[in-house]
Amino acid sequence: MNEKILVVEDEKKVASFIKRGLEEEEFSVDVANDGEEGLYFAETNTYDMILMDLMLPKMDGLSAIKALRQKGVATPVLCLTAKDTVEDIVSGLDSGSDDYLTKPFAFAELLARVRALLRRGAQDRGAEMTFADLRLDPVSHKVWRSNKEIDLTAKEYSLLEYFMRNPNQVLTRTMIAEQVWDYTFDSFTNIIDVYVNYLRKKVDRDYDKKLIHTVRGVGYILKEE
Ligand code: CA
Repeated sequence: MNEKILVVEDEKKVASFIKRGLEEEEFSVDVANDGEEGLYFAETNTYDMILMDLMLPKMDGLSAIKALRQKGVATPVLCLTAKDTVEDIVSGLDSGSDDYLTKPFAFAELLARVRALLRRGAQDRGAEMTFADLRLDPVSHKVWRSNKEIDLTAKEYSLLEYFMRNPNQVLTRTMIAEQVWDYTFDSFTNIIDVYVNYLRKKVDRDYDKKLIHTVRGVGYILKEE
């Protein structure tokens, strides 16, 4: 069966350009023209992924993503945004989207991101992982430390999963950017520091034994002292 993608985009030209391109690649595509309609489509159908414009009538894209996540819809979301400041991108990723693409974009770029997100979704199923007193379940996306559940956003989860798949190894910002965000950030590497700090607050702050450590000038490492 074809993979199903929901495109939430109010600019008709952009929406039909994306729809036509994805259909040529054998995806099955629905288009919603505003945030409310997007939310409704996403709740009432099952999609393999959602492309969400951020500036939308009726309900903006970030609110729609938040509402979806609150309802337990875990479908991967790729944000399409005309905004390109780090703050907007961070808040977009923090609201539960999995990746973003800045407008204008080339279709080949969009397609590469779509494929990467779909692939990652498929890899998500797997055995539970443990490190020290941390436990991560790739099926339910749940994480525990000392048997206490930790509530993570989608991106924090992906970051921790990457650390747990590569314990006791120094992970550079470039590696993290490529593995967790699927591309190189260059000027946006501080997003990674922001996310590692979010993750530390949730994973390490309340515990004597710290697990996520900075390797100055290089990156980060998950290890027991
Ligand atoms: Ca728009």
